[in-house]
Amino acid sequence: MESWVISFLSTSLVALIPYILSLHKEIARLKTIISGHQGNLEFALQQKTLELEAIHLSKKLELEATISGLQEKVNLAGAEQERLKAALAELVKANGELVEQVNEQTVRHEFVEEAGVLFRKSSDEHTECVYCPKCHVALHGSGELSCSICSFVAPFPKGDIDRLVRHLVTSGKISRTKEQLANLPKPPDYTIASIQRPSRLNLDAFLR
Ligand SMILES: [Zn+2]
Repeated sequence: MESWVISFLSTSLVALIPYILSLHKEIARLKTIISGHQGNLEFALQQKTLELEAIHLSKKLELEATISGLQEKVNLAGAEQERLKAALAELVKANGELVEQVNEQTVRHEFVEEAGVLFRKSSDEHTECVYCPKCHVALHGSGELSCSICSFVAPFPKGDIDRLVRHLVTSGKISRTKEQLANLPKPPDYTIASIQRPSRLNLDAFLR
């Protein structure tokens, strides 16, 4: 290599040294800045994380309190529902008993039980019928009279109704208008006997 070239390069390198040194310094300064910023960011991130954890914890406690409050309300509502159910059952029972009492009184008021069946104390009908002592509905049948609800069978045939009605009118247990009585057959000659509830009524014995 030519000596002038070496001399030129040496001069140039020497001239560059301060510049290179200043570059090193600048890099070191920037590194310090970056490291500082990094530290700040890490700290901020830590702070933010702690803050969020605190919020999360407080929200969690708040939710737990709400859930516990709701659970308590649900329990109270359940207890109240049970209490109301019991009260309702009592009312239904009492109502059933009252309905039964009213029915019983209505039956006693409207009917008289004779010869094992019910007769209306007074009637608007032109033809006579008798009623089931249990269900209080009219007994039907061409010969044998029976209840359509409980299958009860009257202890006498349909043909005996009129004679029984006349007997009960005569003994003052039921009342009928003159027109209603005119529809009934003439009474046989009988004396009034005490009325029983035979399983199979002997009408002649009953009317004797
Ligand atoms: Zn019946």
